[in-house]
Order: sequence, then C-alpha cells, then structure tokens
Amino acid sequence: MSLSQSIAYAKELDKNDPLSLFKNEFYVNPNSIYMDGNSLGLLSKKAEKTLLDSLEDWKTHGIDGWTEGKHPWFYMAEIIGEMTAPLIGATPQETITTGSITTNLHQLLATFYKPGKKSKILADSLTFPSDIYAIKSQLELHGLSPESHLIQIGSEDGRTIREQDIIEGMDEDVAIILLPSVLYRSGQLLDIEALTQAAHKRDIIIGFDLAHSIGAVPHNLHNWGVDFAVWCTYKYLNSGPGGVGGLFVHEKHLGKRPGLAGWFSSNKDVQFEMSHDLDHAHTAGAYQIGTPHIFSMAPLVGSLELFKEAGIGPVRTKSLSLTRYLMGLIELKLSTFGFSIANPKSDEHRGGHVCLQHPEAARICKALKANGVIPDYRSPNVIRLAPIALYSSFEDVWNVVHVLHGIMENKSYEHYSNERNVIA
Ligand SMILES: *Cc1c(COP(=O)(O)O)cnc(C)c1O
Repeated sequence: MSLSQSIAYAKELDKNDPLSLFKNEFYVNPNSIYMDGNSLGLLSKKAEKTLLDSLEDWKTHGIDGWTEGKHPWFYMAEIIGEMTAPLIGATPQETITTGSITTNLHQLLATFYKPGKKSKILADSLTFPSDIYAIKSQLELHGLSPESHLIQIGSEDGRTIREQDIIEGMDEDVAIILLPSVLYRSGQLLDIEALTQAAHKRDIIIGFDLAHSIGAVPHNLHNWGVDFAVWCTYKYLNSGPGGVGGLFVHEKHLGKRPGLAGWFSSNKDVQFEMSHDLDHAHTAGAYQIGTPHIFSMAPLVGSLELFKEAGIGPVRTKSLSLTRYLMGLIELKLSTFGFSIANPKSDEHRGGHVCLQHPEAARICKALKANGVIPDYRSPNVIRLAPIALYSSFEDVWNVVHVLHGIMENKSYEHYSNERNVIA
C-alpha cells in the first residue's frame, strides 16, 4: 500500500473496502473512535437480536425453551460450536462453546496433564497471568511445585518470544505445552503449525490460547494437529462482557474422559436418564461441566452470522491493511515524538492490534480518551490500538493518528475539552 498522509486517501481506502458496510451492523458511537475491540468487542444489531430472542423464548416457553423456540437452549452450545468451527479450522465435533478461557484451561489441563515420566509444563514468560495461575494450581493439585515443574520461556526484548527458544525448551521432561497464538501485549503471532510439529516430534501435547487471534486471524487447528485450544468470545467475536468462551479438542483425542466431569459432559442422548455413572459425549461437548449460560452465549448466534457473511479470510485481509496503514501513518507522522512500534511488523508475525510504546503512555491514553479515542492502556508504557475489520474504517485510523499528533504537539493536553477539538 502506498501511503499518503491525506484524509482523502483514507476515504479512498474505505471506498475500496469490501467490508465497509459491516460497520452499519454495529452500534458504533458516532462521537468516538473505538480502538479497544481486542478487549471488548462492540455490540452488533444481530447479537442484540439473538439475545432478545432468547429472552423472548424464556418469556414464551418457560422450561420448554430448552427444546422449543427460536434458539432452543439444549443444543445451543453445540450449534454455536459448529458456527465457530470455520474460524478455527476445526470440525463441529471438535468445537464447543463453554466456560471461560481460565475454566476451560483447568478442564483441559485436568484432562490432558497426567504427570508420570514426563511431568513438566512449558509456557512463555509474557503470557496472560490467568493462564499461568491455572497452570500453577493444576501443578499444585498434583502435589508438584511450580518452581520445579513450570518452565517459562524468556524473552530477549521483553516483547516477543522466539519460536526457536520455545522449541529448545521442549526437553524430555515436558509433558504439555500451553502457548498463546497471539501475545496479548505485543500482538506477536506465533507459528502454531511449526510449534505443533516440533512438540509432536518430541511426543509432547500442545495447546493454544486463541484469545487474541479468534475472529481476527484464520486458523487450521485440525490440519495442524493441535491437541487442544481455548478462547474467549468477548474480544474479537463481540459476544459482550462475560460472553461464554470455547474450546477445541482434536478429533484424535475425542472420547477421552473429561478431567472435570459434570452432567453437561454427558452423551446428550442419555443425559436425562440421570445415571450416577457418567456416559460422556465423544465430542468436544464432553468437556462442558454444568448448565450452559444461555444469555451469555445467545449474542454469539447473531455475531457469528456476521463472521459467516464476511468470511474470516477477508476479515484478516482487512485487519492487516488497517494495522499496516496505522503503522505507516505512525512512522510518518509520529516518529519524532518518541513512539516505538513494539509489535512484529510482518504480516505473518502480527495479530490484530498495534502495540505502541511510549514512556508517557498513561498520560497519552488519558488524552486520547479526552479527545474521543478509546485506546487500551497496559502498564507501564504500552498503548494497544485495535482497528477492527468489521467496524473500523481507514478514516478512523487516520483520525486516531491525527489526534495522537495533536496531543504530542500540544503537551498541555489537560486544557482540551471533552469535545473532539483536535479532530475538528
Ligand atoms: C483475555 C484473556 C484471558 C481471559 O481469560 P477469561 O477466563 O476469559 O477471563 C486469558 N488469557 C488470555 C491470553 C487473554 O488474552
């Protein structure tokens, strides 16, 4: 993409964007520019509708809503799993909507982590804290100490992890590996396929946390042979706060008993026989535990319809164009102000957000908010900016950089009013 600094050029990019109309499907505040869809995606009209449908089903059908109504509840987790499968390159049987990343990690570690001759767990040093808490508590449940049994691969630059370092850490004591697909701060996208191959060569089970890639990056989990994966849906999948997450278990493992069982782990044909001996499902559904949180998953039905219409390929293409454009404008207009781009710049190595570092990141984020741009601050020096393929425009990106430039030119940002006087 050649780069012009003019807003006319941004408008031209929007005109040529095949996904531009999807913005109309979302509730986008016209007085602000939302760059935080990687933390909490915005509400779409379709997600709102399917949530309201479910309330209506309850109102109209009472208990019969489990089997009747617009979106019967008994199979909703399976149906949403099937709708999610194309986003991760999985079969419907391998995919289920349930829990949160953290509870799903507990479930899958309880299922796959059976310390014996191999007993260590390998992770990275930059991952999200909750993933590490889950690993440590699972080790402790087995009477093992995290100091001796959790290996965390270090980072040379404090932002990214080298795949080669991870592979070198795969020694013969490692039983299981858990890695993020995209690192939540720097936005680095790891090579899932290569890491999976390396793990399997050494007879190690490998799972991925797709929090920052699902809905932004296509995956091919089945063909890559990934053993398991977990994700949340309130980020790029726009399911709303506390939206129900999901998990993937590769076909080759289906039938394995869930480490943490509950009645929703059942083979659904016999669930209501109420036997005290669990007959568990031979699909990813086996790794559910209790009654699904219907109202926290109903918005996904509508939201995933939008992904089906748009296609994850075009979503990724636009996401890459948006972040490439953002990085280009930052380099052109902001390089003299002490910013550095901390995410990997190549298409194969970056996820859906740009990670901007600045020693005064906290002050700058406050000023952005005061000027109608919603960024995401990560202490101490990171500003994450996520232009979202389905509801952000190139003009939005242009405006963000324009506002940032205004903030840096006029250091006394405190004097700005709440109106977007910088953009005007
Ligand atoms: C957002 C995020 C989580 C959050 O976990 P929940 O259990 O859904 O609250 C976990 N891991 C990563 C990498 C994340 O980005």
